[in-house]
Amino acid sequence: MNREQLEGRISRIVYPAEAIQRRVGELAGEIATDYTDRGFAEDPQGRPILLVGILRGALVFMSDLARRFPMPVEYDLISVSSYGNGTAPGAVRLVKDLEKPIDGRDVLIIEDIIDTGFTIEYLKRSFAARNVASVRVCTLVDKIARRETPVDIDYVGFTMEEDAFVVGYGMDYAELYRNLPFIGVLKPEFIR
Ligand code: IMP
Repeated sequence: MNREQLEGRISRIVYPAEAIQRRVGELAGEIATDYTDRGFAEDPQGRPILLVGILRGALVFMSDLARRFPMPVEYDLISVSSYGNGTAPGAVRLVKDLEKPIDGRDVLIIEDIIDTGFTIEYLKRSFAARNVASVRVCTLVDKIARRETPVDIDYVGFTMEEDAFVVGYGMDYAELYRNLPFIGVLKPEFIR
């Protein structure tokens, strides 16, 4: 399958590449203002904020966002998975933890899309328990239609009102479509 065929599987673009890039730039500015002007990230050891990307969906967003910050940042990656059938709904498991301790750090969790809210709720709780200086959340897409647990999200790229499954810009269906520069909806014949 070539690139054209991959893109041909998309029925509708929800967020075009240019709109995403513009919004990522705005978010970086907004976050930088909060963390620097307000003295929020006055780490006594002068350490920059720590972006924590959730694998694998947030990789593309975090890499673009990190490069738009007008100040130094560090980043690390974690991986989580939802428990399968037969367990409590919303149970989340840590598959790959951070490389280094995060006590005293200003942590900004980076997510591609927040759906039910269970993943972010779990991570916020787990990070708060590690004696961080602060923990905030930034998501590119906030899919509000299917929220099952209330979560405070500090930075939102786009609020998506419709209950659609989207792919692209890091988001996948069966591991495909992550490298599309836009976010869109798949044609139904490619969803099994
Ligand atoms: P939550 O715990 O239900 O909020 O799940 C969030 C995770 O589900 C995201 O990190 C995505 O990996 C995945 N997800 C939710 N909605 C979509 C979607 O529309 N497209 C692709 N992945 C999604």
